[in-house]
Amino acid sequence: MFSFSSIEDYHSFLAANPNGCQTAVQYYLSKIEENKNLNAFLEVFKEEALERAAQLDKQRAEGKPLGKLHGVVVSIKDVICYKNHQVTASSKILHGFRSLYNATAVEKLLEAEAIIIGRNNCDEFAMGSSNENSAFGMVKNAIDENRVPGGSSGGSAVAVQAKMCMLSLGSDTGGSVRQPADFCGVVGVKPTYGRISRYGLIAYASSFDQIGVFGNNIPDVAKVLEVISGPDGFDSTVSNKEPETYILKNDDSKKYKIAYFEDALNHESLDPEIKSASMNLLERLKKEGHAVQPVDFEYNDYVVPAYYVLTTAEASSNLSRFDGVKYGYRAKSEGLELTEFYKKSRAEGFGNEVKRRILLGTFVLSAGYYDAYFTKAQRIRSILVKKTELIFNDFDLILLPTVPAPAYRIGEKMDDPIAMYLADIYTVYANLVGIPAISLPLFSHTNGMPFGIQAMTNRFNELSLLQFSHLLMRQYKVLP
Ligand code: GLN
Repeated sequence: MFSFSSIEDYHSFLAANPNGCQTAVQYYLSKIEENKNLNAFLEVFKEEALERAAQLDKQRAEGKPLGKLHGVVVSIKDVICYKNHQVTASSKILHGFRSLYNATAVEKLLEAEAIIIGRNNCDEFAMGSSNENSAFGMVKNAIDENRVPGGSSGGSAVAVQAKMCMLSLGSDTGGSVRQPADFCGVVGVKPTYGRISRYGLIAYASSFDQIGVFGNNIPDVAKVLEVISGPDGFDSTVSNKEPETYILKNDDSKKYKIAYFEDALNHESLDPEIKSASMNLLERLKKEGHAVQPVDFEYNDYVVPAYYVLTTAEASSNLSRFDGVKYGYRAKSEGLELTEFYKKSRAEGFGNEVKRRILLGTFVLSAGYYDAYFTKAQRIRSILVKKTELIFNDFDLILLPTVPAPAYRIGEKMDDPIAMYLADIYTVYANLVGIPAISLPLFSHTNGMPFGIQAMTNRFNELSLLQFSHLLMRQYKVLP
């Protein structure tokens, strides 16, 4: 029986198995079929994945050198464009829409010889934390099907969790890779804003959005990250820095300077078990010679409001392009004025959460309220950026929980959007200031669900983030 533990092992398996890529794809197709009820995939590219596997097996037989992701089976969140394939952002408004081009990240995956096996379900336009906002049904957590997988990249997280692919891509605007990674017990990394091109990523909030990676171990996610990073003429916000090669050492002698926010750990919303696991981890790191210190961070109660004001403002602008004329869903227009037609198409095409955010965003940008909300939130953002610079003058890393509580039951938070927003307290900070952040599945709750710890470093310091994560995953993992 085929099994996968890392890209490196898989490549050794391929060296000894002439039909190895086909074996792998067949295995994942059967796992996808077996786990259909989890609803993690909106579409499976069965025939073409098998064809590509056969072609890669042939290339190997001919002695062609292997691409970095040769035969690696990945799935992509339904907000990432893949030429000639549907991309819908899990929204009725884009149902049936086919992409005319590849996202840069997809282009790079294909160049590195990855196999894209399917398109993952997510919250509509990546707005949500539970994957209950998809127009195509919710995704279930494979550990407990009565619980949510997290969101918005829930399908991508579950695809890795239930072994329906090796690695997957998600997007993270305020935690949408790290939070579902935490809920599902997998690794989820969001790189520095500007590390990966956003070309071909359907926009939610452009100054926050970043593609991220799900996987089971650090060397694998590091490899995907290095492949999809780098400058791109199609995205003016992407950095000119060339992609790095992340060579991870197994030498654990390096000692890190680690900051943590005491107020965040004392926050009333934090589950006591998550609190004690985080404190114990910090304590252990200290005992083992790392410099672990609390830092004053008086902004915990401001990050979520600032995030929701700014992201909804950007979303209201980004989503104005979905008008029933240019893209996707079009309402019956007979006898309607143009404005009425726009309204009807948008009213019928968007789901409730997306509508709520467009309304909120339009409100905070409106003439009378702009300064009261939008300007204030921007101020908070710049204060946070300055504070972060100061922290990284003295520290290598910040450690925080990823989410205040483990995966909740389906339906539990649907009637209370504010409660759902507030649970983003630990993840939105990294997006507000653009730093890289990762969730590591180290722990298990007494309710049977996994949970993680979140590490962050300064901008463009992914190497250090991954190296430290590699240490935690090898030495500090409590989860079975
Ligand atoms: N839960 C957050 C939100 O609903 C994060 C979303 C995201 O990162 N795409 O906005």
